[in-house]
Amino acid sequence: MFDKILIANRGEIACRIIKTAKKMGIRTVAVYSEADAKALHVNQADEAYLLGGAAAKDSYLKAEKILEIAKLSGAQAIHPGYGFLSENAEFAKNCKDSDVIFIGPPVPAIVAMGSKSAAKEIMQKANVPLVEGYHGDNQDPKFLQQQAIKIGFPVLLKATAGGGGKGMRIVNNEDEFIELLGSCQREALSSFGDDKVLVEKYLTKPRHVEIQVFADKHDNQVHLFERDCSVQRRHQKVIEEAPAPSIPDSVRKNLGQVAIQAAKAIGYEGAGTVEFLYDSDDSFYFMEMNTRLQVEHPVTEMITGQDLVEWQLLVAAGEELPCKQEHLTVNGHAFEVRIYAEDPTQDFLPATGKIKHLRFPENSPHIRVDSGIVENDEISIHYDPMIAKLIVWDKNRNNALARLRGAISACQIAGLTTNLSFLLSIATNESFINKDLDTSFIEREKETLFPVPEQANEKILAIASLFLMLKRDQEQQTSRLLTGDPYSPWNQTNGWRLNKDNYHAIQFTETILGEAHTHDILVHFRNQGFEIDVNQSTMLIDGEFSEDGTLFSVINGLRSMANIAQIGEELTIFVQGKTHILKLPSLINDNQDKQDKNKLTAPMPGSIISILVKAGEMVKCGDPLLIMEAMKMEHTITAPADGKVETIFFSKGEQVEESAQLVKFSPAEND
Ligand code: ADP
Repeated sequence: MFDKILIANRGEIACRIIKTAKKMGIRTVAVYSEADAKALHVNQADEAYLLGGAAAKDSYLKAEKILEIAKLSGAQAIHPGYGFLSENAEFAKNCKDSDVIFIGPPVPAIVAMGSKSAAKEIMQKANVPLVEGYHGDNQDPKFLQQQAIKIGFPVLLKATAGGGGKGMRIVNNEDEFIELLGSCQREALSSFGDDKVLVEKYLTKPRHVEIQVFADKHDNQVHLFERDCSVQRRHQKVIEEAPAPSIPDSVRKNLGQVAIQAAKAIGYEGAGTVEFLYDSDDSFYFMEMNTRLQVEHPVTEMITGQDLVEWQLLVAAGEELPCKQEHLTVNGHAFEVRIYAEDPTQDFLPATGKIKHLRFPENSPHIRVDSGIVENDEISIHYDPMIAKLIVWDKNRNNALARLRGAISACQIAGLTTNLSFLLSIATNESFINKDLDTSFIEREKETLFPVPEQANEKILAIASLFLMLKRDQEQQTSRLLTGDPYSPWNQTNGWRLNKDNYHAIQFTETILGEAHTHDILVHFRNQGFEIDVNQSTMLIDGEFSEDGTLFSVINGLRSMANIAQIGEELTIFVQGKTHILKLPSLINDNQDKQDKNKLTAPMPGSIISILVKAGEMVKCGDPLLIMEAMKMEHTITAPADGKVETIFFSKGEQVEESAQLVKFSPAEND
């Protein structure tokens, strides 16, 4: 076994690999970018080396430098994690040539699966079922359009070098083919440096079911059952579970065997995932094989009791697989949710910023949190906006789902927008509970998954007021101890006033869908607690903080629990899985720009890749005006109303800062 390995990755996956390496007594070498100098993975490793600037191309993709560091530090092997260099055949080959073991499959296997089209050809020969399509070399737009007509619409265009759900377009008819092909090729080129695409039949209600396979250098292959990853946004997984529900045993067995067949066809070694589209008639089709560890590997670990990173290290060191197929069994059910910094209500637009408050539920046999982020870390535009993976396990799906709801509700993240409440609405969605899964789940259930944000009710406002009063109490007690006269009436916090009624007026502001709402509250001091007037109702409230900062309150005799993070003048209130943000008056009115229909601004830093209208043009509400690229994804800026495009402030190719005004727009008179 190795004494020392280098981890060519960052964030949660680097931390995850370090955990197993430590368990096995293997020393670890981390690499990092300037932006990650204080990151958790750097702190957890035994040694760490700076790679360069924040952008991945200046750091985590600098293959040569990483190899040099491996040599310099004496690491015998490199674990690439996922993303970055994990499926880069040239890097794997250079490792081999430098006598450093690449913890992954042999180079030819990576090459074989590196192109979605070449992979399909190999699988076709190995009798692995494929969805109908064209995956050849001819990239002439007219020719591809003809292929699409032959296959029958809808079709899916896919970047052959693609991954992570990028570089894909659904084309519903012949007329939109050429335009969508262009946009697909642009995204493919900017994300993968290759604009080649394939065309295939778009299945309208498939599930995404994938099989975890493992193989060693001694011709042993096993599968570790399946995962269902059908709940997706932008073709990217949001929730994964294992085992996949409602799959007949015979089909399940068959899936496992076909996956092993696929692995054998390319002489596979190490961890791999064979992804299938699973249709409603229980037929399934090979989609692609990922030649690395997957983000969602923990659900497989939870139901099999195996440590897949340990298996990877054993295989890379030349040992046999720890188990034969007959020794592997499924125990219980597991879910994983990906907690992202993003806004589900704005088409999952990634969010950036500082995580000012972060609490996760504690790890236990039922709950596991994999994260590489700590409080005060930045989510930047340079990397994936994933904050953490939350994994739960229980003896059956229903119990695991209850665990999931509890665990999501226990997460507290303040400072930027997250998808936590969206995840909770999936976990409480009836179709999801009833296992009614397919890849259009989010689109199909959107009415219930994107609940309209509600204003804070009287109870929340009372709790927030109590929080402020108790905090003020704590602060004054501290300052009383510091002053010369601790008994001075001026330092009392019991509401004592000279010639005045003993009350306190609080005003909170809350922004819901771009509109500011004001809440006026009167807090009267009582011998025991407070009396609070809010929205014409009066409540008696008292409470206290527990040691971990949770606020326990009793409102009109009813006890409840909340967590509140105060960041400057802003309170983030976490109560029963819901989050409310209340601002104190000095922060009111900071959202003007978003409401201003005449001004269209960049939602994040990025570059302008296409301008679709001219100054002076009349447009309809929702018409695309220009396309930006940010975080390797295209974002279309659309007209907020019917009206006229007055000015376009940037030209194609230009970089824009967050909130920069892109377009001046005049809504039509009757708007
Ligand atoms: P990536 O490598 O970018 O993850 P995949 O080929 O794995 O791309 O596809 C990602 C997702 O896109 C799948 O999980 C599935 O939801 C959807 N998808 C892919 N191919 C098809 C298809 N032919 N029909 C319907 N959905 C598809």
